[in-house]
Amino acid sequence: MKVLVLNCGSSSIKSQILETSSGAVLSKVTVERIGAPDSILTAFDEQGRRTRRTLVVKNFEEGLDAALSAHSADLGSINAVGHRVVHGGEQFSAAAQMTTEVVHAIEDLISLAPLHNPHNLRGFYAAAKLMPQAKHVAVFDTAFHHTLPPKAFLYGLPYAYYTRDRIRRYGFHGISHRYVSHRVGVAKVITCHLGNGASVCAVDNGRSVDISMGFTPLEGLLMGTRCGDVDPSVILALLAEEGASAHGVEELLNKQSGLLGLSGLSQDMRTLLAQRASGSGRAAMAIEVFTYRIRKYIGAYWAVLNGADAIVFTGGIGENSAAVRAEACAGLETFGIEIDPEGNALTVGIEGTIHRGRVPVWVIPANEELLIARDTEQCLSSL
Ligand code: ADP
Repeated sequence: MKVLVLNCGSSSIKSQILETSSGAVLSKVTVERIGAPDSILTAFDEQGRRTRRTLVVKNFEEGLDAALSAHSADLGSINAVGHRVVHGGEQFSAAAQMTTEVVHAIEDLISLAPLHNPHNLRGFYAAAKLMPQAKHVAVFDTAFHHTLPPKAFLYGLPYAYYTRDRIRRYGFHGISHRYVSHRVGVAKVITCHLGNGASVCAVDNGRSVDISMGFTPLEGLLMGTRCGDVDPSVILALLAEEGASAHGVEELLNKQSGLLGLSGLSQDMRTLLAQRASGSGRAAMAIEVFTYRIRKYIGAYWAVLNGADAIVFTGGIGENSAAVRAEACAGLETFGIEIDPEGNALTVGIEGTIHRGRVPVWVIPANEELLIARDTEQCLSSL
């Protein structure tokens, strides 16, 4: 089946047309900086040839129109669209066709994911208008974590905040954690998705049992611009500062913190590794906080799972940075986790094992678009 996969963010649209059986990407178009005077459209055809141009894209609808027109594959032959939807709350444990009822349920979840679901929904509304003949399916980032037990998903707040306000750990990056944990095919797996967003997940027999991201994607690891774990009192202190607003603090925690905030240089790991190599102490410190926290979560999930049969690295950093993988696993020899320096250096952007200790350590490139396309097909065929 040919499926169009849409991943819509606050100012960008990522789209791919895939053939689900072969996994082939027929074309790929990204529109970035929507709303700015110089939006950028990048397109790849089936041979991977790239074209790039700047254009004026005033709003989301224009962005989607531009993206769809730039696909080299034939849009007429597409009968399904898979939408990445960040938050599926407690309702959705699997992909769902976007019927009126499902769309209303996703709208209802906006209060839980105000930074994400509105953009995903805007993508759906615009796509449904432009492609009314297609069937639309929502594939949720949270669905894989539906199996979390209450001891892992409850926060230590008065219980009514869970029952009344639905405040709990939901977890995200589920599409990626599910894919890589299934791919290694062993019982107990600790999966580390390290991209701009980053999270660690404990998977027991194919079921997510704990995940470092929480009520929102802000909790857990240090990320490109997100702070990850902080004492909640820090937020109260930030709010008590003169002129502070909830919105300002939200921006600070989500957009100005993490690797960017600590280094004062960049959110991009490649830049930070290069800066560290040329002597930047701030870059070195930010990378150390980043890798230390991954190590802590691996240790915590080792305890949660009572040992692990494999550790997996994925995401832009996890797939490509041998240095980050080695530093994250340093000092875990007592668990039998030890990285082979040669294998690690050779495994960049490709699948392979990188260990010399007892516990297999894998690098598995993420392919969330293919999973979204396959989930879309499966959802429609099961109806
Ligand atoms: P997103 O979460 O936005 O999908 P990605 O998974 O593409 O992000 O990861 C982006 C991160 O991967 C950036 O910090 C980038 O610097 C990092 N990255 C990509 N290639 C490399 C590399 N060769 N070495 C180190 N980091 C890399």
